[in-house]
Amino acid sequence: MKAYTLKKKEKTEEYHLFEGDFTNTGCNSENISICEKMNKQFSGGNVFTCFDENEARIRIAEIGRQVCGICTSHLYTTNY
Ligand SMILES: [Zn+2]
Repeated sequence: MKAYTLKKKEKTEEYHLFEGDFTNTGCNSENISICEKMNKQFSGGNVFTCFDENEARIRIAEIGRQVCGICTSHLYTTNY
């Protein structure tokens, strides 16, 4: 199972999803978002961290359009 972190891109209202793995202490995440449009270093804060796929889908649906479409679609096109 993958761990998902949603970050806000600084100075924008865009949110991008980062994939990682669960660890003993929580989770890690890749340096680049799933869509490859956002680097971690430009994060304006985390919306959530260490969510599984289901939790991430629910939360992203609540947030709505500000979440990057490419990042969102990844949650619906993969099966783990
Ligand atoms: Zn994205």
